[in-house]
Amino acid sequence: MSLCAPFETILTRFARRFPAGERLASDPVQFPRRYAGAADREAAALLAALLAYGRVGSLLAKTEEVLGVLGPHPSRWIRTSTPRRTLQALSGWRHRWTTPHDIAYLLEGIRGILNEEGSLERAFKRGWSGHEANLRSPLIRFHRRLRDVDPRPIYGRGAGLRTLEFLLADPGRGSPLKRWNLFLRWVVRPDDGVDLGLWRGVLTRQLTIPLDTHVHRIAFALGLTRRTSPSWETAEEVTESLARVDPGDPVRFDFALAHLGISGACKGYQVPAICRRCDLAAICTLPARPLGLEEKSPRRGLAPVGARRQRRRFFLKPLTNACA
Ligand code: SF4
Repeated sequence: MSLCAPFETILTRFARRFPAGERLASDPVQFPRRYAGAADREAAALLAALLAYGRVGSLLAKTEEVLGVLGPHPSRWIRTSTPRRTLQALSGWRHRWTTPHDIAYLLEGIRGILNEEGSLERAFKRGWSGHEANLRSPLIRFHRRLRDVDPRPIYGRGAGLRTLEFLLADPGRGSPLKRWNLFLRWVVRPDDGVDLGLWRGVLTRQLTIPLDTHVHRIAFALGLTRRTSPSWETAEEVTESLARVDPGDPVRFDFALAHLGISGACKGYQVPAICRRCDLAAICTLPARPLGLEEKSPRRGLAPVGARRQRRRFFLKPLTNACA
């Protein structure tokens, strides 16, 4: 997918001028940033990234509760605690599909890695050549290592593990792996006031964008992908498009693109009073009215339409941005 020179200039200016510091309070990366030690930051980053789904207010509150239990040094709690103690401390806690049992299992997986490898970074790099174009293969091995825990003492015999399958989504499947890629962005990208810069030797050009619905919609509207469903291939295509703007660090645009939607600064459709101040206005093809509404007739005004029909119409219309 080719991008024209004005597009690159616009996107670069948009990311440079985005007020990242002001948005940190509504981003889960604030949690690992609280800790001084690398081991605490790394463990808190994995936990906070995996819980980063659902409404922002809710995921921030639920992550705060779990980290409150782990105390000022999460890695110390993880090394010394037991699943039983975690289950007792998190009694009554729940974040949508995620249960205290899932958290106890995750912490047990991290504990096994810390005891054997010393750090999550070392476990991630085991068996890794360093030359892969992206980090999916080492992520699959890392996930397998994290899941190397007998669930029966935690869940009980015959207990369903469906909630765990969601929390620790299998990177071998076709989803965009938004939460895994978010964790990798945090630990790999240098500390720029947002990301953490914890891991050495993993290159920023090997990262894949953490694609969620906000980023996918804006990426499509900007012509960064022609794929209409969020999948691993879509995340790769968006990343490849961004690599034409910055080959060494394509996902550096992710924080600004994601928070444009998360913050509500972008409504997901054109609002002249807002869009005239948006740096992306010249290349944005988001529709002129809310997704889910269309004008039936001048007399009847706006009325709801089927989400699928509306979505299809949005994703199939020709691009008319600065590169068209
Ligand atoms: S709809 Fe408006 S605010 Fe949203 S990305 Fe497009 S130009 Fe920016």
